[in-house]
Amino acid sequence: MYWQPTPPPFKEYKAKVFSNAAAVSQFIYQIGETPLLRQPSVTVPVDTITSLEMQTKFTYIKTCLLNYRKLTGYGRGITAIQIGIPQCFSVVYAPADLLIIINPKITRVAHKKTRYPEICMSANPIVVPTIRPTWVEFEYYDEKGKEKHWNTKDESDTGRLLNRVFQHEIDHMAGIINIDKVESPRELILESDPDFYKTATFETIA
Ligand SMILES: [Zn+2]
Repeated sequence: MYWQPTPPPFKEYKAKVFSNAAAVSQFIYQIGETPLLRQPSVTVPVDTITSLEMQTKFTYIKTCLLNYRKLTGYGRGITAIQIGIPQCFSVVYAPADLLIIINPKITRVAHKKTRYPEICMSANPIVVPTIRPTWVEFEYYDEKGKEKHWNTKDESDTGRLLNRVFQHEIDHMAGIINIDKVESPRELILESDPDFYKTATFETIA
């Protein structure tokens, strides 16, 4: 019997994942190609929120999130710095609508923490098991310039995910990427198994 090579698995799915990553990199900045992703963003002056310039930026960031979701079928948030705007705002895919949060300030965090595998659009398709508090409370401005307070401590998977996405995006405003929070580089993987997210769970950290 002659020796035969054993090719790696998930060939078709990986071809799709990497082709999506290439497409996403056309409108989302990737780690290493700009120092801005590692720098803090600046506060948006509240009296400019309703200006045409800011409203145009909000429309653009929403379009980017919708494009990402059209390409990949997932994607829950983008922060301005990821599309080259070093200002403190994000768009988050809340089940009912695309929520713009501006100048968020975290006021409380849960004691309980969970680990969950995250993908950052700026480091796609690296999967990062990331430990975060199960919920946060924060103050922010909406896109109409109104002051708002997020304090929904929904313990369903959807609620946990949303609280996690807010933390992920608020980290971007401080120049922090989920990769920076990983306990060991050995935990990093590339998205390759199509069933990976079907079995992903929120693992409680003692
Ligand atoms: Zn990210």
